[in-house]
Amino acid sequence: MGALEILQEASDVVEGFSCDCSTECCRFGVTGREPWLTRAEFDVVIAAVKAQGRRLPVDDDDDGRCAFLGSDDRCRIYAARPLGCRTFFCEKTTHPDGRRGLLPSSTNRALRAFPRQLQALTPSEESRPLGAWLRAAAKKPRR
Ligand code: SF4
Ligand code: SF4
Repeated sequence: MGALEILQEASDVVEGFSCDCSTECCRFGVTGREPWLTRAEFDVVIAAVKAQGRRLPVDDDDDGRCAFLGSDDRCRIYAARPLGCRTFFCEKTTHPDGRRGLLPSSTNRALRAFPRQLQALTPSEESRPLGAWLRAAAKKPRR
C-alpha cells in the first residue's frame, strides 16, 4: 500500500468527526505544534504541489502559519495533507453523535498503527517537522 492509501485509511477512521475549521492548528505560532512527516508523506506533498503546477513554498517561519495555509484560510494541499493534519482534532471537535470534545480513546487506538505504516515505507529517513522538510528541500531541491 502506498502512502496516499495509508493516509486515506486514516481519514476513514476519523470519518464523521468534524470541527469548525478555525485553522488554529495550521498556525504553529499559536499552537506551538507543527505536524511531523515521514519522507513518504512529504513525497505525497511534493507530488500534489507538482500536480498543481506550483513549486514548494518557502517556509520562512516568520508568522508561524503553515506554508500551505492559503490567504483564504484553506489548505492548499488538502487531499495530500499529512497524517498529523488528518487526525488532529481539538476539544472543539463535533463527534458523529453530536457530542463535542477530543477524539475518543477507541479512535486514537485505531489511529496508532498509521505512523508505523508510513515510516515503514521509507525506513532509513527520520520524520521531520513540515517546516524542516521545506527548508531542506529549498536548500537542496530533490526533483
Ligand atoms: S481541530 Fe480545532 S484548532 Fe484545528 S481547525 Fe478544527 S477547530 Fe480549529
Ligand atoms: S498542511 Fe494544510 S492542514 Fe496541515 S497544517 Fe498546513 S494548512 Fe493546515
